[in-house]
Amino acid sequence: MNQEQAYPDIKMFIDATWCEGSHGKSGAVLNPATGLAIGRVPHASVDDLDRALESASRGFGIWRKTSAFDRYKLMRSAAEKLRERAGEIARILTLEQGKPLAEAKLEVLLGADIIDWFAEEARRSYGRAIPSRSGAVQQVVIKEPVGPVAAFTPWNFPINQAVRKISAAIAAGCSVILKGPEETPASCAALVQAYADAGLPPGVLTLVFGVPAEVSSYLIAHPVIRKISFTGSTQVGKQLAALAGSHMKRVTMELGGHAPALVFGDADVAQSAKLLSAAKFRNAGQVCVSPTRFIVHKSVYEEFVDHFTSAAKNLVVGNGLDAASQMGPLANHRRIEAMEALIADATSCGGRIRAGGKRIGNEGFFFEPTVLTDVPLNARIMNEEPFGPVAPVSVFSELDEAIVEANRLPFGLAAYAYTKSASVIGAVSTGVESGMMSINHHGLALPETPFGGIKDSGYGSEGGTEAMEAYLNTKFVTQMNS
Ligand code: NAD
Repeated sequence: MNQEQAYPDIKMFIDATWCEGSHGKSGAVLNPATGLAIGRVPHASVDDLDRALESASRGFGIWRKTSAFDRYKLMRSAAEKLRERAGEIARILTLEQGKPLAEAKLEVLLGADIIDWFAEEARRSYGRAIPSRSGAVQQVVIKEPVGPVAAFTPWNFPINQAVRKISAAIAAGCSVILKGPEETPASCAALVQAYADAGLPPGVLTLVFGVPAEVSSYLIAHPVIRKISFTGSTQVGKQLAALAGSHMKRVTMELGGHAPALVFGDADVAQSAKLLSAAKFRNAGQVCVSPTRFIVHKSVYEEFVDHFTSAAKNLVVGNGLDAASQMGPLANHRRIEAMEALIADATSCGGRIRAGGKRIGNEGFFFEPTVLTDVPLNARIMNEEPFGPVAPVSVFSELDEAIVEANRLPFGLAAYAYTKSASVIGAVSTGVESGMMSINHHGLALPETPFGGIKDSGYGSEGGTEAMEAYLNTKFVTQMNS
């Protein structure tokens, strides 16, 4: 194996020690560019999870008493370590996940920025004093860490999905058991290593892998765990939220979307097609906030389709380690099957393929950037999150009609609009039901801005000052001077 292909041994991190699963079970990790195994990921047994829980409980005892200033200093050091190691971590991320190296490096560097942001927020989790009705009474509100957290993160952004949860939790003074993504474990482990090397006390951060349903059902129900955070599909999120609810655990859910992108007649069509195609095909479309339903005014529809289609056709698809590649493979074979099924369904009910439409070769999980038009609303792709490089474009005539279509689905994560009209901007920013809205550019997912959905896309925020709230209890203390 040449150096470029070298892949680290994957271990879990329990009680400050890197370890295998105690019952010896593991799963294969594949390189999506080749479809070949590159490593194995250990699976936690119940004994391992019990050790993790005991350690997280002890870790919480230490960390909740660590000053916000010391938490801040340690987190800044973890961010610096991540930054220093960005080149090597990005290579591993591309090897296991597939995305182009430049995108992987940006993900690692943004991860460091996210740690910095939450480090700063650690120092600002202020309470408040409430004027009392009596001069002898003092009333204060204080913020306390909620307790040990169980966090579950997916494979599409192995660093980014994990760093948001663990950094907000650690900043707040919580300990965290992270169940990382089994398909992309090494880059997530490198993030945990950066925190460990910064000197995090034992038990504050734990990393396990395993059979997701087994790990989540055990951790969520366990009395040590006080808070759940999950990123993944709406279907799984509803199951986990129901389980958490039955144990009265606090929950943050960052789930699927099916983001409408509204292009109005007065938009700069070439520019909107350029920005929307870049956003759509980033990470091969495996992004929860990806624009996925392109709803274009009839006056610019054909022009938009021409620009968008040629952008899709001109994308260079290839191994993410190759500097020329603009889009890598899909992360796993399930996504290939999903794309094929969605396209077959769309064409069977009248949809037209304007670009792409099929798998590329039979080595690895590459798929052509695909554009569909004339797809009826009852087609699966108009209702299910594609989570891959397939884009349906449809047409509208009136503003109200576009807003009704944007709100037709039960999802409400991201939404996009392109227009020069102030009144249209006002109408869409209030009328479209979504947790995030980006108008005339793509400005979502910065550390300092809220990140989260409504409706079936979940609840809670994973960015901005709002993200800390998820990991803090509010305590009211009233005191009479004696
Ligand atoms: P999936 O639903 O099986 O898994 C999605 C994620 O949830 C994975 O990380 C998986 O490990 C985890 N998961 C699954 N069952 C779980 C359980 N019982 N307990 C805890 N974690 C569990 O599907 P998949 O094939 O991996 O991905 C397909 C769909 O998942 C996509 O279509 C997309 O809608 C969604 N997804 C969303 C995101 C996101 O960023 N919101 C990321 C990855 C996948």
